[in-house]
Amino acid sequence: MRLSELKRPGDRRCIVLLASPTMETVPKIWIFAFALPLATVGQTVSVAPVEDDVVLGRLKRIEKDNNARRQTLEAIFREADCGDPALISHNVRGTSAPNLICELKGEATEEIIVVSAHFDKVRAGAGAVDNWSGASLLPSLFEALSKRKTAKYTFLFIGFTDEEAGLVGSRAWVKDHKKTMLKNVRAVINIDSVAVGPLYVWHSQANPELEQYALRVARALKMSLTAMSADQVGASDTLPFRENKVPIIDFHALDNKTFPILHTIDDQLSVIKLDEYKSTYRFLTLYLAFLDQTLLPKASAEPKTEPPR
Ligand SMILES: [Zn+2]
Repeated sequence: MRLSELKRPGDRRCIVLLASPTMETVPKIWIFAFALPLATVGQTVSVAPVEDDVVLGRLKRIEKDNNARRQTLEAIFREADCGDPALISHNVRGTSAPNLICELKGEATEEIIVVSAHFDKVRAGAGAVDNWSGASLLPSLFEALSKRKTAKYTFLFIGFTDEEAGLVGSRAWVKDHKKTMLKNVRAVINIDSVAVGPLYVWHSQANPELEQYALRVARALKMSLTAMSADQVGASDTLPFRENKVPIIDFHALDNKTFPILHTIDDQLSVIKLDEYKSTYRFLTLYLAFLDQTLLPKASAEPKTEPPR
């Protein structure tokens, strides 16, 4: 999370993370999940998450400096079977570590779902919450998605560099792909600072369709997913995409209790709640599989209507 200059943790007067009541008015769910794979009315979303101990083991491989974090993330991607030529470095001028991109090819459309998390940290603390909690999930999300029989969309799992220096990695990716891949990006799912508490969606800037689907999947998993908007206190890697009218959604776990941990010595592995980390992982796995099956490509999208209920 890139914190606003004027709204630092500790300055409690300025912290205005507001839960939104609008999330209560959720249409009835139409997914009935007993376990994964998940059975739905009229469709089946089938995806097998990576084992808990493997997922947790990846969280624990946190490193202190940004280059080591980048190298570890690459090593974990390779262990998850994302190797050459699917694993790509995207060099970003002025940074010591390039963006890291793992591509999972889809079959039915040219369009792309980006799943992103920044791997860099600020100087203070271990950067466990912000944002090894997000970056360390990427290879496990890839691994689960890659074992499905078919994929409609191409997924790009991107570890962004230098988010904390001003969204440097995400801005560079958007700029360098503006005339090519960016046009095909159907959605960006960003994970920044999760598992320090229950999962939230950054409601104020989320694409409504992506948010509706997230709520349905959360309800199906009997998991809480509340709206918590952080507009006044920070920005995330979805901003450069939003500026280009790409539908985005941010997942985080920041509220008035957990936000003050960011960018301080308190941001350590010990504050990560392992149960939340596991449930966040399971939720995202299912959500991505669900999006792959449910989201209509832009190219085929009919005039804008309500998502099916
Ligand atoms: Zn941050």
